[in-house]
Amino acid sequence: MTAKIIDGKAIAKKLRAEYHARVEVLRSRYNVTPALAVILVGDNPASQSYVRNKIAGCKEVGIRSELVELPASTTEEQLLDHIERLNNDVTVHGILVQLPLPAHIRVPSVIEKISVEKDVDGFHLYNMGGLVTGNTVFSPCTPYGVQKILEHENIRVEGQNVVVVGASNIVGKPTALMLMQQDATVVICHKKTRDLGHFTLLADILVVAAGVPNLIVPQIVKTGAVVIDVGFNRLPDGRIVGDVDFEGVKEKASYITPVPGGVGQMTVTMLLHNTILSAERAATATTSPFRRRA
Ligand code: NAD
Repeated sequence: MTAKIIDGKAIAKKLRAEYHARVEVLRSRYNVTPALAVILVGDNPASQSYVRNKIAGCKEVGIRSELVELPASTTEEQLLDHIERLNNDVTVHGILVQLPLPAHIRVPSVIEKISVEKDVDGFHLYNMGGLVTGNTVFSPCTPYGVQKILEHENIRVEGQNVVVVGASNIVGKPTALMLMQQDATVVICHKKTRDLGHFTLLADILVVAAGVPNLIVPQIVKTGAVVIDVGFNRLPDGRIVGDVDFEGVKEKASYITPVPGGVGQMTVTMLLHNTILSAERAATATTSPFRRRA
């Protein structure tokens, strides 16, 4: 069996065209331009590159972006003040603080400061908790991207055995919870899991987000499985690879995402989606989605 290679770039392009049209509706019907504020603290080159990518995505679909660049010496209090200002700015619909932050700033305090209604990354505790009950205000972007890929390929989730390798708060755990909401039978594996293959071999859908190149080899993949590789690793020779032995596993799976060109394309796309959704809610709601749900 040779897998269908899922073209994340093409899916992202199609979705972005739809989002562009939604922005046009917001402009013409409500005179609202969706806006995303991105806060970047310090000069980490990887973070700078991620932020550039997000801002370029905004431009592509017509979202206004506001970049708040702060020095690494910024205090936690100063950062919280910036968030407070953006929380109160009705022209801003999404707030994103690029992680990681300098060590002297406590990430949880920063994330909890962002208004739930503008938490387009979906990292606020309220949004995290909502994953358990199935009513987040915003779904976290990478897991949401995985879900959208499965939807786009018409891959049934209900009743399927899903194994998620990786249990981080931003990828593994939320992905598992979102797929469980769709009535999959879900197992989460992590670095302390004994005999990883024992579990992965059960997977109809295998989602891998460990950050370990070549962790998933064909011997531990079920024939016909759908393999979604979230991993993004830079090898010493500069090549970018995922966590899956792509060449080997594509001969055994039914669907597989490449790296690059798979899930990575979807993460920013879902951030754009969440920002537009926030602007739509602000333009049309009489009460906040947070208060309505609380
Ligand atoms: P993380 O380091 O926070 O978590 C990694 C998880 O993998 C942990 O739960 C750990 O226990 C597990 N793990 C590590 N080694 C393992 C092993 N040998 N066997 C089983 N489990 C193991 O990482 P993260 O932030 O969740 O990111 C995971 C990967 O996904 C990274 O490569 C990251 O670059 C990538 N990522 C990609 C996107 C994207 O948009 N494509 C977004 C976020 C993260």
